[in-house]
Amino acid sequence: MHADMDAFYASVEQRDNPALRGRPVIVGGPRDARGVVTAASYEARAYGVRAAMPLRQAAGLCPDAEFVPGRMRLYSDVSLEVMRIFRSCTPLVEPLSLDEAFLDVTGCERRYGSPGEIAEHVRDAVRTAVDLPISVGVAASKSVAKIASTLAKPDGRRLVPPGSEQDFLDPLPVRMIWGVGPKSEARLAARGIHTIGDLARHDPERMRELRRPATLARAIDPRDVASERTAKSVGNEVTFGRDTSDRELVLRYLRQLSDHVGRRLRARGLTGRTVALKLRYADFHTITRQVTLDAPTDQTRDVFGAVRDLFAREVNDRDVYRLVGVHVTGIGAQTARQLAFRMGDERERRPLETALDEVRARFGDAVITHAALLGSSARMDSERYAWREDVLG
Ligand SMILES: [Mg+2]
Repeated sequence: MHADMDAFYASVEQRDNPALRGRPVIVGGPRDARGVVTAASYEARAYGVRAAMPLRQAAGLCPDAEFVPGRMRLYSDVSLEVMRIFRSCTPLVEPLSLDEAFLDVTGCERRYGSPGEIAEHVRDAVRTAVDLPISVGVAASKSVAKIASTLAKPDGRRLVPPGSEQDFLDPLPVRMIWGVGPKSEARLAARGIHTIGDLARHDPERMRELRRPATLARAIDPRDVASERTAKSVGNEVTFGRDTSDRELVLRYLRQLSDHVGRRLRARGLTGRTVALKLRYADFHTITRQVTLDAPTDQTRDVFGAVRDLFAREVNDRDVYRLVGVHVTGIGAQTARQLAFRMGDERERRPLETALDEVRARFGDAVITHAALLGSSARMDSERYAWREDVLG
C-alpha cells in the first residue's frame, strides 16, 4: 500500500483556517518573496500552480490565491501522528517523506478484511486522528501502488488486483514511472514512446539507461517495504532562508533538530550510537563530523551534547552557513535501555523526555519545550527555512 496525504501542508492550513477552505492556497511565503511554492491546494493547482515553482510565478498564474508562510514544525508533528497511525496497522512502514509511506499490509486481512477494507481503515484512522484527506493505492508491488495512489487523488483509493497490473499500466503516460523525469520523457517521446505500455514493449537493449524504468513498466518490482526497524539513520536538516554566520542561531537550530531526532527515535523504540553533524557553507562546501557515544541513546540531551561539541570544534569566525543537519546512525532496537540506566540521572531524565513527547503529541510543539529553546521560537519562525527529514533504509 502507498499512502499519501493530499496537498499536505495546504490541507493543514485549510483545516486550521475555515476561511481558506475551498480557496486556492499556496504555502511557501508572501506572493512577492523570492522563494518557491512548498505546497499548493487542489484549488490552486487548477491554475497550474505546482510545488517548487517560484512564488512570483504562482502569483501570476493565480492572483487570487491565499499565500501562507508555512509552519514546518506543525506539519512535522502531524506527520509523526500519521506515521504512528500507519504503524498501528502494520509494523512494516517505509516513510518516503513527511506525508507519504509504503505500508506492507501482507497478513493484515485477518484483522482488517480485504485489501480495500484495509485501505479504508487507514484512511478513516487518519481522518479521525488529524482531520486530513489521504489517498491510498494498493497493489502487489511498490511501483504500482505508488502510481495507483496518484490516480486515487484527491481523497480516494485505488486497488490494482494481482494479475491486472499490465492492463492498468499500459495506457498511462510514461512519466508516471519512477525514474522517468522530464528529460527522459522527452527522449522517449522522440522514439515514439508515450505510454507505459510503449515502454514495456520497448527492447531494453536499445536503451540501456532505461532498463530500470522499462522493468517497472513491465510491472516487475521485487523491492520490499524497507521499514524503519531496519533503518540505518534517523536525521533532520534545515536550509536557512538566508545564509547565516550567527552561531547562537545555528546552535538553537541544532538543539531543535536534536530534539526532533530524539523524539523520532523514542517514538519508534530505537536508539542510536553515532551522532553526526552536517554543515553546508554558503559556497555549498559540505562537511560531516561524527562521534560514537559510550552507549546507544534516544535522548535529546545526549544527541545535542554530541552535536554541540562537534560544532564547537569546527566553528570559525568567518564561516557562513547555509544548511545544518543532525543525524543519528548505528541504529538499534531499544534493548540497550538498561545500559543507559547506569548513566547517572538517566532515571529521572527518561520519564521527563517521555512525558514531554506525550504532551506534545497531544497538544503540539508550542505547548511545552526545553527552557533553552524558549525565546527562540519567534526568531526561528521569522526565518523561513526548509525542513528535511531523512530515514535512510
Ligand atoms: Mg502528498
